[in-house]
Amino acid sequence: MLWITCPVTRSDELVADRRIRSVTNHPTHIALHVACPACGEVHVYRTGRRWDASRAARTADAARQARQPAHA
Ligand SMILES: [Zn+2]
Repeated sequence: MLWITCPVTRSDELVADRRIRSVTNHPTHIALHVACPACGEVHVYRTGRRWDASRAARTADAARQARQPAHA
């Protein structure tokens, strides 16, 4: 089972393994292609330590920029 957030309906969905259409290994992450029970489309979700690390870095950068005073 897998928790996803549908980008179309913005709802959280608990998805059965049989709805995972394919799993693709990449050097930095694993891409899961999931048939969405909410909207019926196939969404791609990426998991993996390096992917999470790079995403965390991007989020941290955005947070740093957001904290910059507007007139600095
Ligand atoms: Zn969906």
